[in-house]
Parts: sequence; structure tokens; C-alpha cells
Amino acid sequence: MTNHQASRRDALKLFGASVVATAIAPRASAPPPGPVPAGTAAGYFPLSAVRLGEGPFLAAQKLDADYLLRLEPDRMLHNFRSNAGLVPKAPVYGGWESIEPWIDIRCHGHTLGHYLTASACMYQSTGDERFAQRVDYIVAELAECQEKTGGWLTAFPDGVAPLVDSLAGNKFAGVPWYTTHKVLAGLRDAHLQRGSAAALTVLTRFADWIDRACADVPHDRFQKMLDREHGGMNEVLADVFELTREERYWNLATRFSHEALLGPLARGVDALDGLHANTQIPKVIGFSRIYETSKTPSNYNNHQDAARFFWKTVIERRSFTTGGHADGEHFFPVGDFAKHLPSAKTMETCCTHNMLRLTRALYAHEPTVAYFDYFERALFNGILASQDPQSGMNTYFQATRPGYVRLYHTPFDSFWCCTGSGIENHARYGESIYAHDDDTLFVNLFLASSLDWSARGLRLTQQTKFPDEDTTRLEITHATKRRLTLAIRQPSWCPVMKVTVNGARSQRARRPGGYFKLAREFRAGDVVEIQLPMSLAIDPLPAVATAGHPEWVALRYGPIVLAGRMGSAGLTPGSQIIVNERESGNMLRADMAIPRWTGTLQELIETTRRTHPARLEFRSTGFEGGASVDLIPWFRATNERYNLYWQRAQPSVA
Ligand SMILES: [Zn+2]
Repeated sequence: MTNHQASRRDALKLFGASVVATAIAPRASAPPPGPVPAGTAAGYFPLSAVRLGEGPFLAAQKLDADYLLRLEPDRMLHNFRSNAGLVPKAPVYGGWESIEPWIDIRCHGHTLGHYLTASACMYQSTGDERFAQRVDYIVAELAECQEKTGGWLTAFPDGVAPLVDSLAGNKFAGVPWYTTHKVLAGLRDAHLQRGSAAALTVLTRFADWIDRACADVPHDRFQKMLDREHGGMNEVLADVFELTREERYWNLATRFSHEALLGPLARGVDALDGLHANTQIPKVIGFSRIYETSKTPSNYNNHQDAARFFWKTVIERRSFTTGGHADGEHFFPVGDFAKHLPSAKTMETCCTHNMLRLTRALYAHEPTVAYFDYFERALFNGILASQDPQSGMNTYFQATRPGYVRLYHTPFDSFWCCTGSGIENHARYGESIYAHDDDTLFVNLFLASSLDWSARGLRLTQQTKFPDEDTTRLEITHATKRRLTLAIRQPSWCPVMKVTVNGARSQRARRPGGYFKLAREFRAGDVVEIQLPMSLAIDPLPAVATAGHPEWVALRYGPIVLAGRMGSAGLTPGSQIIVNERESGNMLRADMAIPRWTGTLQELIETTRRTHPARLEFRSTGFEGGASVDLIPWFRATNERYNLYWQRAQPSVA
């Protein structure tokens, strides 16, 4: 990183929106200024500049940290070493890392990549040196492997063969480029988040091997290879370009951009039916990254247009109320939502993880509240909801099946894709709460936290019990004499937001979906209190949102999706922890009658009342036959049966 700090402008651009904007600080001990990346409209703060305060997100971060420390690097390194001809130091892990029925998917080693990212982020988020040590150890081990291989790093049972075969146009097993992306991204983050110079060396050496291996592959064959899931290869290679300024990496990044997806999206055509969801999202993040790292972004407007269109169509037409989407990992026709509700394989957590990354990338160019309305929805109802607060393990699917439960991975025998993205999720909550431009601080999320905006001499704390309470309190703890603007997100779900400065000036903001701006010379001790009244809302399934008499609806309070509590029949301690994600739906089945609602939508709202003053607990009595339902936040329905969408007693007739 040192050489990049020499060129401030390069450094700024380097930390462009998609990944890396989080990562300005190479060391936890010295958060750098965090300027706005060139070519973007808003920058993010490094994780080291933000600390979480008491609340559910800090609790999730701590559970994740504990799990990261329980995992053993030598076990994750086993196959990397053996492929390089080195003696492994510990037995390999199970699940996707080594055993049937997952050998064919060639995801061996993906966990190590995610682990590097998660540990490097956790280091920035906590300053705990143990995570830095783990990153350094793994990077050194991978460097040793490269001495033997000449550059490639794989944990596949057949070594580098799947990559070579894919490039040769031969039959190849699984998703080797998907897995390779995770390893490259882990090395990138080891460099950016931990400040490991060695990681950049290993990363570029691997990228060099890929560059050579790809050199003679004809365009058509290359594109055909990209029909197979390949993660964010275009994104990470564009990052390697930004880190090195060597254009061959950027050229390689563009070769990894899948034209079959780019074309329709750039034309504003949603041809996503039937496509594997989590294959597409990382490609789209890469399109945005190609645009923003290009020397002539205007020549790549189609890439950014594609990314924006994809985001919009997925959010508006293809997402459940939680912000999750797809069934069996695939997008389905937008009119078919109701058919997919009984599925136990809806809403893969990786997809939400990646949609949040895309959201961050787009917001940096266009800092509007709409992006963070989605981000908040998916963060609470998708990501926070994905972790078992007892074990710290994460979900694969968050099934919409009525009366079903969440299922979580085992600590040492699963290693799903969602285990990998899951360990990253809870290490990076600090990166999106705030953003900034030159003299504006955007408060985008209402999470207990503290921020050090060292470049502007501003420090503040945010105290809140949101969403159990509808207030948050920002206190300036340090300020220099300088006029700054505090831009507070007024969520679209909040028609009137009340802002009180130092207990005196109370203002009502009436621009939901906009920023409320306070411009002044802030002083230490200034307090801004914000009240965000929440109310009950009804979310129909997307395709029938405008129909007026929807048959299936979910209940939401502010941004918090509510789940019906359906008891715990058949659940025993540990029964939700499973090895095999393919068994989702086969285990812990329970056929239960879910009450149906009657009356009008307004009556459904009116018959739903909050039952606890300090926690989000509700009871709805507007159900058939006088039945009532107790409701809690979907993110808290972690160890019980739940229901998300409610059917109308008599389907509406046109
Ligand atoms: Zn996944």
C-alpha cells in the first residue's frame, strides 16, 4: 500500500466503489482519511474508522469472531499444500472442502478465500491482532505453495486441471473459476484490509499465471466457458489492475465479462428467468467495477447501465419482502411468486450478500436513499437474520415455506458457499453505516456505533436500540472548527422524521426517500436526536403489488419484516444445524395449518397490535375463524417455526 499512498489520486481511485471502498486503511491502528474515490460521488469509511456499539450487530460480530478463531488455517490449507507437492500440516475439512456429494462442484478451497477476507475485515473491525496473524500465516503458506506451482493455487482434488480444461474447451468439472475468485478476493482483502504486502505479491503472481493461461484462448471459447458460474473474476481482476496499474489485468478483467448477460441488461431487458441467481450478481458487480476502473468510463457506460438495471429489476420485480430472492437458487418468472412460497429453498443467503455489495457499488456513484432503503431491508431481514444467535452458524436458504425453520451449517463439516459469504457478513457491518463526500457525512443506517472521520476531525457516536425503539441519538464527541453537513437518511417507510438538535430546535422532515441535511459548525457535545416513527405495512408478492386485492401478503413494521410464530414442534436443541444443504426441506418438515386472513388490507393492519412496549412483538387477530397470530421480527425467528406470507381466506376475484 505504501507506494499507492505516494499517489493520492491513484489511491483514491483504487478504493472505488465496489469492493474496495471499505478498505482504505491498510492497518487497524491508523485509519487514513477516507477521501471520496475519484469518479464517484460518495466514499465509504474504512472498517477501522467505525466501531459497533452494543446491539444485535455487535453480538453477531462477536459470534463470528469466535467462529473464525475456531477454524484452523492448516486444515483449510491442506489441499493447497498437497497440490503444490508439500506435506499438509493438518487433516482436510469435510463438506464442500473434500467429500461426496460435493466433489463434483469443485469448490474445494473456497473457504480459505472467504476466510482471508473475513479475518482481514475482522482485524479492521476489531483491531484484534489474532486475525492479522492468521491472515499473515495463510498468505505465507500460499506463497510457499506458489514456489512449487509457479503461480496457481488450488485445492481441487485434480489440482489445476479444471482450470486448464476449462480454458482448453474440454469438459471440466464444477465451478473452478468461482472458487478461484474466492481465493483471489481473499488475497486482495488480505492486502487491502490487513495491509499485507506479501498478499499482493501472491495475488499478482496468481493473476499472472491466469493471464498466461488465458492468452491464447479464442474469444468465443472464452465466452462459452463463462456460461459456467465464475464468481466475480472480472471484478477481482479489475481490482488487481487498480492495485498494480498494469493494464493487462484490466484487459483480462474485460475478457471475464460475460457478454451473454451484459448485452440484455445493458439494453434494459430482464431475461433473468431460469438463470442461477448467485452466478449473475457477482458478474454484475464486476460490470460496475469495469466501468469505474476504466480509463474512459464513458466508453463503458453500458456496463454501469447494466448494473443499475439489474439492481432495479431484481429489487422491484424479483425480491421477496426480506430483500432475498430466487428459488432453488434460480430466478423464476415474476408472475410465479406464489407457486414458489412452499419451497424450502428460497432466498439463498449468498445472493443477499452479493446484492448488498452491488448496492454499495452503485450508491458510491449515485448516493441516493433508495439504495440504502434496500440495504437496510436486506441487512436486517436477510443478513442479520442469517446467523443463529446461539451457535453463530449461518443459513443457506431462508425458506418461505409456511411453518418451516431456518437451517444452519455445522462448524466443521459443511463449508457451503453461504458459510463462506456468511463469515464475511458479520465481520463487515461497520462499512456501510456511514458514507461521505468532501464535507457531508451521510448517516445511512441506524446502528449503534462510533465513527472517527479523521480527515475532517469529526468523531461521533450513535446510540440506538433501533428497531425496538424508533429513535437514534448522534453525539459529536470531537470536532474541529469547520462547517460540515450531516445528511440523515429519511427512509421511504418513514413519512415524517423528527430531528432535534441539542434538545431545542425540533424539525419535522417530510421527505421520505431523501436526506435531511443539517449544515453547521459542529462542536463536541452537540447532540442530534432523530425519531423515525415506524408503522405497520403490507407487502404483497411483487407481481401483484398493484392488483389491489393481493392474495398473499407479508407484514412489515418500518423496515422490519414480521414473522408469524408457529411454535417449535419437532425441534430439539441442535436439530437445525445440518451438514447437507441439499437436505433442506426434507428435514424438520411439519404440515401445519397456517391461518388465513380475512377482510381488507386496512383491516389486517388495524387488527394487528403491538403487544410489548420495548420489543417488537405483535398480535394480529384478523384471521379466519377468529384465529390470532403472534408476530416478531423475521430476523429473530431463528429457533422456531415461522410464517412469512399470509394467504387471503377468499382469493380475490377480479
Ligand atoms: Zn450460498
